[in-house]
Amino acid sequence: YKDTDLVLSIESVMKSFDGFRAINDLNFYLGEGELRTIIGPNGAGKSTFMDLITGRTRPDEGSLIYHQDDGHDMDLTKLREYEINRLGISRKFQAPSVYQQHTVYDNIVLSLNKDRSVLKSLFYRVSADDREFIDEILGTIRLKGMINNLAGSLSHGQKQWLEIGMLLAQQPRILLVDEPAAGMSDEETERTGELLLSLEGKHSIIVVEHDMEFIRQIARKVTVLHQGHVIKEGKFLEVANDPTVKEVYLGR
Ligand code: ADP
Ligand code: MG
Repeated sequence: YKDTDLVLSIESVMKSFDGFRAINDLNFYLGEGELRTIIGPNGAGKSTFMDLITGRTRPDEGSLIYHQDDGHDMDLTKLREYEINRLGISRKFQAPSVYQQHTVYDNIVLSLNKDRSVLKSLFYRVSADDREFIDEILGTIRLKGMINNLAGSLSHGQKQWLEIGMLLAQQPRILLVDEPAAGMSDEETERTGELLLSLEGKHSIIVVEHDMEFIRQIARKVTVLHQGHVIKEGKFLEVANDPTVKEVYLGR
């Protein structure tokens, strides 16, 4: 990377819970517009990794630096969760959390301004520019034909895509996605991969996943996490054929 291409620099991070080392000397660099995938068995530290970036968990040691687009660096270890979110770092948890009793369209409108309350958002006047932006998002998540459907009536996969759309409404610079394809049909999984690929270049994205097939489909740089440490980083085949990776992950 050239220095200017980085959005996130994570160096020598340690995190223990009651003496158990969940993250052990973790180093990770995220480039502008990159789509990255992180795999690792259960307990490898994937969710903790996301928690550290979003400020949900504080590291014991090491640094997490966010490189803003104006050139200023922010030390994420000094910020609260909502402050990190305001910097343009949005996270999608594994389970979808949409407003079930509201329409697809309203769910996006509710997310347009993350600082506004739900009540204010419902009375928010959508401008022509907003409308265009919402249309673009609905196209991206392929729910254009369902704008008046209640979110609660959507399939599991559609709810996941809607939630990604809600995050896109916040115009994040970094998007963190935890196991987006969990519980999806093969077709929905494939669509999810396409959706994430279509965001590449517009956002910097980290997808955490334990499903190898999904990682294969996305086919971008893979980082393997094991016992809180990066044991391998590279192209899918390089990683999948690595003896150590096979031993700790694929061979199970
Ligand atoms: P993954 O998401 O890869 O399955 P996690 O990051 O959830 O892994 O967990 C890594 C390890 O850290 C696990 O052994 C887990 O039990 C432990 N851990 C995570 N969060 C906490 C916590 N808040 N308190 C105690 N142990 C935790
Ligand atoms: Mg997890």
